[in-house]
Amino acid sequence: MMIVMKETATETEIESVVAKVERAGARAHRSSGARVTVIGAIGDEDSDLSVGNLGLEGLPGVERVVPILKPYKLASAQIRHGERTVLEVAGHRIGGEHFALIAGPCTVESREQVMRTADVVMQAGAAMLRGGAYKPRTSPYAFQGLGTEGLRLLAEAKQRTGLPIVTELMDARDLEPVLEVADVIQVGARNMQNFPLLAEIGRAGRPVLLKRGLSASLEELLMAAEYVLKEGNPNVILCERGIRTFETSYRTTLDLQAVPVLKELSHLPVVVDPSHAAGRRSLVAPMSLAAAAAGADGIIVEVHPNPDEALCDGPQALLADEFAAYAAAVRSAAELAGKALSGVR
Ligand code: PEP
Ligand code: MN
Repeated sequence: MMIVMKETATETEIESVVAKVERAGARAHRSSGARVTVIGAIGDEDSDLSVGNLGLEGLPGVERVVPILKPYKLASAQIRHGERTVLEVAGHRIGGEHFALIAGPCTVESREQVMRTADVVMQAGAAMLRGGAYKPRTSPYAFQGLGTEGLRLLAEAKQRTGLPIVTELMDARDLEPVLEVADVIQVGARNMQNFPLLAEIGRAGRPVLLKRGLSASLEELLMAAEYVLKEGNPNVILCERGIRTFETSYRTTLDLQAVPVLKELSHLPVVVDPSHAAGRRSLVAPMSLAAAAAGADGIIVEVHPNPDEALCDGPQALLADEFAAYAAAVRSAAELAGKALSGVR
């Protein structure tokens, strides 16, 4: 259920609705927009029914009580009354009119590689640095990432450039060291439906970049986001990164229709990862421009100073030397869609 408060509702009136919802065994998720406060009363289906029977409509400050029609409740556009969520990550905004370019190596490989990439992406105006210390590899024999040493290098890159860090968490047992450096925790496509991991990150409260699974529908992606939101963490960024189709000419099919459709269905920011969708460098720039023009709230892209020597995903990495020109083109495309780049110098 969703309780829409009147524009004139006082803090005391809001708090008394929250208390009543919680006494009925549901959790009250408060969302204050520019005009009104909405309280999402979320519980199991039984408590949903009992919230409906609480007579909340008659309470002071309550405008109306309506059911949330989608199976994902807190992720639904309905709960924010059409307002978009804008996340703030270390001074950079993402969502609404704010576009964030997130760039960096697939994997942290060495000090030199990370620092060089971090310098280049910072100078080109990226808002955040990406890089994996724990890597989800198809083969158990492939390089699995530097683990805690990789996190240490990311912390150094953050210190050096001031860029917030996006890095993947694969296993809840690594949550603590990842929280020490990650400004945004990435959940990879293969873990999109790792529900205990999502709930753990939800409880940690740190912003999450949630990648769409290789064969996941948009509804499944939003249900996965709901696992994080339900734990009280409102900071979720959705990421389209390509899905499996019958087409074999490229790694996966970048589903750019997901951008406007996710925005119809949800208030959460939507970013696009053209690197993993494409699998090869030549497709990354055109698909980035298309994503930005389609209204994406950001792009997460792989860059390497020397892709031929990369330990992971070299063929799709943009060349560090060409990154500034790429970033300028993406900025123009984002502007076409009415966005301003967050973090551009
Ligand atoms: C990555 O970002 O390096 C990655 C492995 O992405 P995905 O989970 O989308 O495959
Ligand atoms: Mn990669």
